[in-house]
Amino acid sequence: MDLQHSFSFELFPPRTPEGLAKLPAVIGALAATGPEFFSITHGAGGSDQDGTYETLLKVVEHSGVEAAPHLTCVGSTRAHIAAHLDRYQAAGVKRIVALRGDLPATALSPSAPGEFHYANELVSFIRETHGDAFRIEVAAYPEMHPQANAPREDFEHFRRKVEAGADAALTQLFYNADAYFDFVERCGRAGITIPVIPGIMPITSFANTVRFCGGCGADLPRWIKLRLEELKDDKAGLLEFGVGVVTRLCETLLRGGAPGLHFYTVNHAEPTLSLVRNLGFGARA
Ligand SMILES: Cc1cc2nc3c(=O)[nH]c(=O)nc-3n(C[C@H](O)[C@H](O)[C@H](O)COP(=O)(O)OP(=O)(O)OC[C@H]3O[C@@H](n4cnc5c(N)ncnc54)[C@H](O)[C@@H]3O)c2cc1C
Repeated sequence: MDLQHSFSFELFPPRTPEGLAKLPAVIGALAATGPEFFSITHGAGGSDQDGTYETLLKVVEHSGVEAAPHLTCVGSTRAHIAAHLDRYQAAGVKRIVALRGDLPATALSPSAPGEFHYANELVSFIRETHGDAFRIEVAAYPEMHPQANAPREDFEHFRRKVEAGADAALTQLFYNADAYFDFVERCGRAGITIPVIPGIMPITSFANTVRFCGGCGADLPRWIKLRLEELKDDKAGLLEFGVGVVTRLCETLLRGGAPGLHFYTVNHAEPTLSLVRNLGFGARA
């Protein structure tokens, strides 16, 4: 594969002492492949923003690679968000993944507490308060956001984030390359030129893959689901199958013009490292 493509890794703040203890090794192993950046998730409503910040510092300490915190806005206030942005700016952060986040449906009503209801409002707020201090990445949904009423409407909401000042988009996980190509075509027709980077979720178990896809509205092709179910008690066989499927997905995406890939590592070096090696990215290490 072409080594010009950029790639990045997503981590989450560890929730257990064991997870925390193994994180430096995971960061080190992934960083050795030469990613453009690590991104670090955080819970909606700012529940673990300190965890996000601590994890970000660990990435910088153990890799020197750029670290981008996710920032969710739903249920939050301008003052809280501004304080997070100031703290990140002081820490040298140059990139933010700006999201609405998920809270109970009641939090989304215009009369609900909180001064933000959608991600486009967060993007506008970041630009208003911090100008171009941050590169802003937003979420994109090739198979439609699960709460949206229709693809066209969802796409119009995506466009609002771009018009508010997003620099790039990271997609929700998907296993149908054509859904990504269709989304990019729609961007082209709408005059949207920002990079749309596929979000890649490695396959490591039948139950997790079904759960992840169900949770975010991603279609799990029937043949993949059937094969994973068949292999669910054969860990090695399932991993080999999963790496094969996801490698082919990545190759198809890159050959079809995807500008890079964003891997949802779920805080494991493998099988993301196998994917990266298969794609020739690891050769940069
Ligand atoms: C790359 C990536 C990273 C993520 N990281 C995190 C994370 O760290 N923490 C976390 O909690 N979640 C995370 N998520 C999940 C995300 O928070 C959820 O999918 C959430 O439901 C939507 O966030 P969003 O920023 O896409 O919202 P939005 O772009 O605001 O869209 C949310 C929904 O509202 C609709 N909508 C948007 N604007 C309007 C409007 N003005 N009026 C009416 N409807 C509108 C959209 O069509 C969509 O259905 C991530 C998702 C992705 C793809």
